[in-house]
Amino acid sequence: PARKRFGQHFLHDPAVIDRIVDHIAPAATDHLVEIGPGRGALTEPLLDRCPHLDVIEIDRDLAPALRQRFGGWPGFTVHEADALGFDYASLGGDTPLRLVGNLPYNISSPLLFTLLASPAPITDMHFMLQKEVVDRMAAQPGDDDYGRLSVAVASRARAERLMTIGPGAFQPPPKVESAIVRVRPRAPAFTIDCQRDFDRILQAAFSARRKTIRNGLKALLDQSAIIDAGVDPGQRPEQLTPAEFAGLANRFTAQAG
Ligand code: SAM
Repeated sequence: PARKRFGQHFLHDPAVIDRIVDHIAPAATDHLVEIGPGRGALTEPLLDRCPHLDVIEIDRDLAPALRQRFGGWPGFTVHEADALGFDYASLGGDTPLRLVGNLPYNISSPLLFTLLASPAPITDMHFMLQKEVVDRMAAQPGDDDYGRLSVAVASRARAERLMTIGPGAFQPPPKVESAIVRVRPRAPAFTIDCQRDFDRILQAAFSARRKTIRNGLKALLDQSAIIDAGVDPGQRPEQLTPAEFAGLANRFTAQAG
């Protein structure tokens, strides 16, 4: 039976699995890392296209079956481990990693930020997440879903929604719609002097979405500091670009230090 605490919803729709793998488009020379392979629904078609595959599975009852089923493939390795604490840089080699996974939804945000902060070279990530989370990740300034998650992701990566998937593709079906997101890490176009201050500014600004930046950030920055950062204090948080938030955060860091 599926384990609730590990967020287990196994894909069983072959057409959906094919479309996901087509989006990932694994090449024979890639080094893939699959997080949460479960019973191997994605693992098998991935291995068919790309023999160098490491999988990370936390459930000790699933790992032996994966080893038994795919152990004959020379480039295949099962890591019985928690993806949140995993040392991705240790997978080493000269080939940058491509990460994929139908993730347990309860760990998706922390895992994403762990990966974006990891020193391991990562080309891209394709993850199945709650559709609502994917929409927030990929939102642009001005969109309804634009918020803390959009800005935090945009400061380090480009996120793009590729397809949505209904509950019926899974066993057992989840309560929500799902979507596949492609995340490509990139060098930031701006500098964040202190990550904690950046998070603090985002939290303050977006916890008062309907307030102007002037009012939402009142406790942290005064109006002249906001203007000095090049931001119009009469705007609302959803209108500001990630670079503008970085400017505000750096201003706050400078004044606090
Ligand atoms: N990939 C399979 C599929 O699509 O059928 C299973 C997907 S299921 C949504 C999530 C999988 O992640 C489960 O196999 C679960 O045991 C595993 N998992 C949950 N938490 C994990 C963690 N912290 N680290 C690694 N794997 C985890």
